[in-house]
Amino acid sequence: MLQYLIIQLDDTSTSYCHYTNIRNEKRLISLDDLRAGILWAMKENLMIQYVLPDYELPAEYIEEMESIDNSKIVSSHSTMINNADVIVLNGWEKGFTFRENGIYVLRITKDSLFAYSEEIKMVLPAVTRLNIVITDVETFTDADCETYKIVLESFAKEVEKLYVAGKSPQLNLLTDRMMLDKMNNCNAGYESITLAPDGCFYVCPAFYLANEDDDFGLGKSKYNVGNLIDGLDIKNPQLYRLDHAPICRHCDAYQCKRCVWLNRKTTYEVNTPSREQCVVAHIERNVAAQLLTSIRTYGEFLPERNGIEVLECLDPFEKANKW
Ligand code: SF4
Repeated sequence: MLQYLIIQLDDTSTSYCHYTNIRNEKRLISLDDLRAGILWAMKENLMIQYVLPDYELPAEYIEEMESIDNSKIVSSHSTMINNADVIVLNGWEKGFTFRENGIYVLRITKDSLFAYSEEIKMVLPAVTRLNIVITDVETFTDADCETYKIVLESFAKEVEKLYVAGKSPQLNLLTDRMMLDKMNNCNAGYESITLAPDGCFYVCPAFYLANEDDDFGLGKSKYNVGNLIDGLDIKNPQLYRLDHAPICRHCDAYQCKRCVWLNRKTTYEVNTPSREQCVVAHIERNVAAQLLTSIRTYGEFLPERNGIEVLECLDPFEKANKW
């Protein structure tokens, strides 16, 4: 069931996920479409999330945006950074000052993550939550997987230290799986839908921003799933649901993003992930299992239902004969 309307306010609004936004020409949503989008969200009883560009928005836009409860996603270079709910760093920024109690998304390539892991680890005590999004997850090799496991184990040691000190650090890659007892994925197209600056709906901002290389020659209109005048028109909406995801519905890497855009890009199916996405999610899942066990040696922590068995197999598809 739909719960969120994401409003991509401008073509240059920051990415906060796997996709990269290379657009640098401003195209602000019209004020009429912004108003109509807010009204639509109110009628559908949806929470609004605005994705902002870096430049200062006109006063009438701010007034309209604030006419309803919302959350704001901005980049670390936005003029709105002090009013943001989520701040996105596009790559590791040496010397950036993380705000205490802030919620951050760090979009980073695997190589940068490996190179700056010690510095990144030091952010955990300072912030409320750090979401790390590996922007080139589909390029992971076996050697990268080995390195990723070592990096995660070192993050896990820091998390453990903080828990023992009575803190509750949140790092999506590790602590989400410990807390979850069912899937908590991105769910674009099912729980959220995006309104873009052209007044049309898209499954998520990535489908609006898809560049020539991403659209497989099918044309960008392929990704439009309705507009503010005619309403939402998602073809085969069941394909965005977990119960129609042939591999994911058998999986318990509950923290996995299950990114439908990445699925579409790598397998041409919105509900079928690439092997790399699964292997990376399972490495996170297994290190989270070890972390949970380690924390529990200090005392009771989380109900037993949150137990996580360490799995040898990192790709659920390899166990398909047991489903
Ligand atoms: S690990 Fe793979 S199968 Fe499991 S939820 Fe993620 S994408 Fe789906």
